[in-house]
Amino acid sequence: MGRCPVTAPGDGGARRQGTDQAFAALLDEHSRLIAELASNQAAAQGQREEDQARIEELRGLVESLLAQEERERGYVPAPAPRWWQLDGAAREEAVDYLRKWVEHVYKPCYEHIAEDLGECWDKHPLCLFILDWLSEMHKYLYLRDKRSAGNLGGMADWHTRFLPIAAEIRAVATKNCEHRARQAVAADARLAGHIGGGNSNAGSRR
Ligand SMILES: [Zn+2]
Repeated sequence: MGRCPVTAPGDGGARRQGTDQAFAALLDEHSRLIAELASNQAAAQGQREEDQARIEELRGLVESLLAQEERERGYVPAPAPRWWQLDGAAREEAVDYLRKWVEHVYKPCYEHIAEDLGECWDKHPLCLFILDWLSEMHKYLYLRDKRSAGNLGGMADWHTRFLPIAAEIRAVATKNCEHRARQAVAADARLAGHIGGGNSNAGSRR
């Protein structure tokens, strides 16, 4: 009696093996697709973060240009610096804001009064507080297209009442301070070195 070709054990095993291989190939393909999708998603996420950073950078640039233009058009109130809290880069930025006014407006325009401001003013909190309101008042009074009688009165007050007193306070603060004493010691040392060198040269010529 011959064996049934459908139920023969040898053929069944071959079919199962074929099915297993096809299933394994399908799993491999799915795994590859999932890995590919994950990789694409990570790349897209990286691109999104890069785009977002670029947008923020451009936003900051536009805001800074707008603020600069607004400042050039007229007075824009600046927040009061908290000198007692500022340090590092934040302090330097706030000092630099004052320094621009001192270099571009105060020193060129206020002659002998500005000369009384010691070079170490940026190291004296008292000078920083005074220069802050003095410069902001000056900007408020002068960065404008039109002026009223009140503004004229403000300009007169600024120059004849506030400026002389403010200048006096800052001059005293920077006149006999530790920074100036250190500068004097350094200058004396340089002078002594120079004279000493001059004498030795003079001696060698004899
Ligand atoms: Zn000083």
